Amino acid sequence: MSVNAGTTRRDTISGEDIVRLRLFANASREAVEGLLHACPIRELEAGAILLAPGQTNRALYAVLEGRLRIHLDAPDNQPIGIVDAGESVGELSVIDQKPTAAFVIADTTSRLLVIDQEIFWSLIHASHVVACNMLVSLAQRLRNNNSAVSESKRLQQLYKRHAATDELTGLYNRRWLMNLLKRQVTRSSMNQKPLSVIMVDVDHFKTFNDEFGHIAGDHALYAVAQTMLNIVRPTDMVGRYGGEEFAVMLPDTDIKGAHIAAERIRQAVSEAVIVMSDQSILPSVTISLGVAQMRPFETLEALIEASDAALYRAKKLGRNRVSD
Ligand code: GH3
Ligand code: MG
Ligand code: MG
Repeated sequence: MSVNAGTTRRDTISGEDIVRLRLFANASREAVEGLLHACPIRELEAGAILLAPGQTNRALYAVLEGRLRIHLDAPDNQPIGIVDAGESVGELSVIDQKPTAAFVIADTTSRLLVIDQEIFWSLIHASHVVACNMLVSLAQRLRNNNSAVSESKRLQQLYKRHAATDELTGLYNRRWLMNLLKRQVTRSSMNQKPLSVIMVDVDHFKTFNDEFGHIAGDHALYAVAQTMLNIVRPTDMVGRYGGEEFAVMLPDTDIKGAHIAAERIRQAVSEAVIVMSDQSILPSVTISLGVAQMRPFETLEALIEASDAALYRAKKLGRNRVSD
């Protein structure tokens, strides 16, 4: 592929061609025909590059037949726009005299009317209708760009949510939770406020999976997650720490408060109803919980280790209980 590939024929535009171009819709023939007859017609093979980013462009191209694609960055990227027959391309760089910003490539064999910048301005001066058509086409382009920007913002938020959450439970994933915890450890230390962590693990979950299947296990994990989310304070954070393990961060909470919160969570999970997609009901699961309060100058790692050790004690003591 080469830039500006294609042949330029010296044949001129017909009245029929003019009617098909949006830029000249409703314009008086006398005002534009003479100027347009001076414009050459270019034919492009499919795949030929008409414009490339950074290139100086001194013409507007009106598509008489065929179709062009617009690509940002690289010609093999997903196209960001299509220029159909009747539409034009290149006007921005003709108007602001800046280099082109995108690749314009023939999607099919295309016939283009090449309107150089002097003729373009003569047309604008000669016909108010052409000037208005140009404004309408620029307004449409602006609107398309705005909706492309809001679409890309929407996608950005979606990616951000995916980066932060665990797909099965909708809770914060481990990486995100550890990030939040790290920041909270610093904040709590600086403000000399208590901070507690509850480590949670589902009891005998391997048996549950073996007995009811992995899908049932997934439903159970979802139910445990939702129950925890509904019962903690809005300032507490719940995350999925691993397979059937969860962690809860409780800012401004000492070990006594953490015990109370953990006991409430334990109770609620043991009573939570686990519903399958076919509405059948599974037996409830229980959880064991380990609580720990951050000591002065303690690191996040030490705090996690302490809550893990407390969880281990809760398991040892018989499960379905809270320990510190
Ligand atoms: P304990 O009471 O000592 O915690 O016993 P346990 O069986 O829960 O512990 P173990 O660590 O042996 O088993 C954890 C089980 O959790 C095994 C694993 O298949 C299951 N599990 C982990 N992640 C998922 C998941 O995303 N979905 C399902 N269905 N099961 C999971
Ligand atoms: Mg486990
Ligand atoms: Mg377990």
